[in-house]
Amino acid sequence: MRPYFLLLVFLLVLASCAPSVLPTPVPTVSPTAQEDPYTERRLRMVEDTIVGRGVSDPDVLRAMRSVPRHLFVPADYLGLAYDDRPLPIGYGQTISQPYIVAWMTELLQLKPGEKVLEIGTGSGYQAAVLAELGYVEVYSIEIIPELAGQAAERLSRLGYGRVHLTQGDGYFGWPEHAPYDAIIVTAAPDHLPPPLVEQLKERGRLVIPIGPRGGWQTLWRFTKQAGEVHAEALDYVSFVPLTGYGESPPGGNPRP
Ligand code: SAM
Repeated sequence: MRPYFLLLVFLLVLASCAPSVLPTPVPTVSPTAQEDPYTERRLRMVEDTIVGRGVSDPDVLRAMRSVPRHLFVPADYLGLAYDDRPLPIGYGQTISQPYIVAWMTELLQLKPGEKVLEIGTGSGYQAAVLAELGYVEVYSIEIIPELAGQAAERLSRLGYGRVHLTQGDGYFGWPEHAPYDAIIVTAAPDHLPPPLVEQLKERGRLVIPIGPRGGWQTLWRFTKQAGEVHAEALDYVSFVPLTGYGESPPGGNPRP
């Protein structure tokens, strides 16, 4: 009898030391947030500077919350990736300010199945935001070969390989894939490039800064309606100049 009693006591003690079989607590940080240490800063930036300044399209906000801007800026500027400001990306160019990216994307009023052309791929960030909407076909053109190459590699590595990219002078648009439902220009010419208007569909929207080099420009939205172009002047902005033909056409004539 005594050995059985001792065995019973031993088993009871063992059971009290066994690890709990209760479910382990659910982690409070999502796997994405764990992999991306910048998630919190990105979400705060979207709330403070994008929602806070009036951008309200839920799809645009979702895209801005998703695209990891820190992976589009040079390593030296990692710490500033979620400040609401443009940052240098080399070759005298910049990645645009997040608020402007969000606002211009909202102004395009994109709908499922539409085709959008971006002039000025730069880092690829704006193209990624457009692609992140998930329901538009994105085309983008960059004039500087090195930036075009880097953006192609980055977008493909980050899962945005379905963005169509080319290197060339965006003053002339990308006629092979025209017409477009929307065109966004992320460098400033001093006049509206006629080829971009031609490549816009009926009811198409063209969002573009126009103004002098090095100064403030006006952000415009042009909409094609019954063959006419309806113009809305929106606000003052500051962009790098559109280079290429628009800036220095052969013979010095700024218009074709
Ligand atoms: N959208 C870019 C981004 O998200 O990083 C930022 C654009 S940066 C403000 C302007 C870009 O337009 C530069 O990369 C510049 O090289 C490019 N660009 C300037 N003139 C151009 C032209 N004629 N055709 C195509 N790209 C041009």
